[in-house]
Amino acid sequence: MSERIVGKVGRVVGPVVEAHDVSGVEMLELVYVGEERLVGEVVRINKDRAWIQVYEDTTGLRPGTPVYGQGEPLSIELGPGLVGSIYDGIQRPLDMIRARSGDFVAKGVHIPALDRDRKWHFIPSASPGDHLQGGSVLGTVAETDVVEHRIMVPPRMEGELVDIVAEGDYTVDTTIGRLTSNGGDIELKLFHKWPVRVGRPYKQRLPHSEPLITGQRVLDTLFPVARGGVVVVPGGFGTGKTMIQHALAKWCDADIVVYIGCGERGNEMTEVLLEFPKLIDPRTGKYLMERTILIANTSNMPVAAREASIYTGITIAEYFRDMGYDVAVMADSTSRWAEALRELSGRMEEMPADEGFPAYLPTRLAEFYERAGLVETLSGKRGSITTIGAVSPPGGDFSEPVTQHTKRFVRAFWALDKQLANARHYPSVSWLDSYSEYTEDVADWWDEHTQGEWRQLRSEIMSVMQREARLERVVKLVGADVLPDSQRLVLETAKIFKGAFLQQNAYDEVDAFCSAEKQYRMLKIIVTFHRLAGDAIKKGGTLVGLKKLEVMRDIMQMKYEYTNEEASKLADLQKKLEEAISDYASTFE
Ligand code: ADP
Ligand code: MG
Repeated sequence: MSERIVGKVGRVVGPVVEAHDVSGVEMLELVYVGEERLVGEVVRINKDRAWIQVYEDTTGLRPGTPVYGQGEPLSIELGPGLVGSIYDGIQRPLDMIRARSGDFVAKGVHIPALDRDRKWHFIPSASPGDHLQGGSVLGTVAETDVVEHRIMVPPRMEGELVDIVAEGDYTVDTTIGRLTSNGGDIELKLFHKWPVRVGRPYKQRLPHSEPLITGQRVLDTLFPVARGGVVVVPGGFGTGKTMIQHALAKWCDADIVVYIGCGERGNEMTEVLLEFPKLIDPRTGKYLMERTILIANTSNMPVAAREASIYTGITIAEYFRDMGYDVAVMADSTSRWAEALRELSGRMEEMPADEGFPAYLPTRLAEFYERAGLVETLSGKRGSITTIGAVSPPGGDFSEPVTQHTKRFVRAFWALDKQLANARHYPSVSWLDSYSEYTEDVADWWDEHTQGEWRQLRSEIMSVMQREARLERVVKLVGADVLPDSQRLVLETAKIFKGAFLQQNAYDEVDAFCSAEKQYRMLKIIVTFHRLAGDAIKKGGTLVGLKKLEVMRDIMQMKYEYTNEEASKLADLQKKLEEAISDYASTFE
């Protein structure tokens, strides 16, 4: 179906337009509104009225002007050129729009998401006569130094490849091959379109087994997320949500990162745009932007595009997952997204539910988070999407609707704690309020990489932290002096663990990212201290004496003094600790 007039502008209510005399338009159809041809989407139809969510500023839109149906749902373009791009919530390339219309984004500017002039070097791998279906790889394009873009047959297509171009340089909309099927010929290009609100198909879901290493010790060691997992990061204003999301985007070991900046202040996004292009990936030595796609819909941009932005982001993620990659999606903040949903719903005069949010808030949240997962792709590869959404509950109150509904759809909860943030303990992830249901899923992986020790070490330190929380209550009432050294040791180990391990400085070159090996060795040193110190105290040693050991200073500094490359040298520190305590204990024998 091609473009046709489907109605006319009636009432304009902020980002929502009520169209009159409507006929022949479908739910969720893409429309252009008014003479300026503003991009919109039909979100409700009632007889000859339709409500259109408009993705651009509607001021000056004149009643009576036409609404043009486009005969397709809101879709995005998937192909070479995505990586390294910065888009708005409906995939308009922000840098191109800026170049054309200046800092103020002009209305009705239709620029394709993928550059039509740029040529990509395509190397075919399929041959004429091959029977292909959705997901089959036609060939590859080296999109950046680190991303091999696998050109796939779009989902739901099938047939025999009748011809394919030779290796060479092609623009994205050149026909590079043809499939012939019962329905006739299908032209294949380097890109295809996909509707953002429809999850891309895959063969089957697979059970989680490997962690996504984030490089943040409190997360990987205490509350790990599996590849393909879903996590929420709730935290009040200033507790460090954005810092955590940035740290994940920079350091997590995904092949592709999709970062959705959702309704936050414009300057936060500018920081990302200025900072990210300079960052180097510690694993590849290449620029991190060579694996990153940014979606920016700051608070000063149209609210409807913010609503769409998370679906645009997750659709791009699915596309790379389908190539067999591990993708990580960060959304900061889904509360701003939910506020967009609330505003749009209010403008349409829908019946509000909890705190003014529409009754379909949980459904929409589910539709986003459900698209994460570890799957077998249509072409039989393993691919994953790990989704990490930040939530900013007003006043830091986790009982509000967005936090509560989100909690139902995620399996890990990284709760940021205001008191920790106030004490400048960063990341301010609470070890008491957070949880991860992925811990068992990834424990075998960790044990395999740590001589079978991870489960045991982790459970010992968790138990120390829980005992500390109980002891702290006693200490508050009667002071620490009444406790025997065996119990004060619990407080001391917890203090060491917090300072030397849990706190991690995002601004320090060595500490910003911590490899799995370094985390394990650091954890082992602290647990070893706890075990041996306990034995020494039983033999007559004192906590005061133990704290005086010189090696304790090395432990407090180990996160800064051993780079990730030097992590194996922590074994020497471990030995030094064992010897120091053994020497100390021998004075009591
Ligand atoms: P939020 O997004 O929750 O409002 P931010 O992520 O902007 O909070 O963090 C607020 C401030 O906290 C940052 O500007 C920074 O000074 C500090 N901060 C947060 N996390 C860290 C960290 N890991 N290392 C050092 N400073 C941090
Ligand atoms: Mg923030």
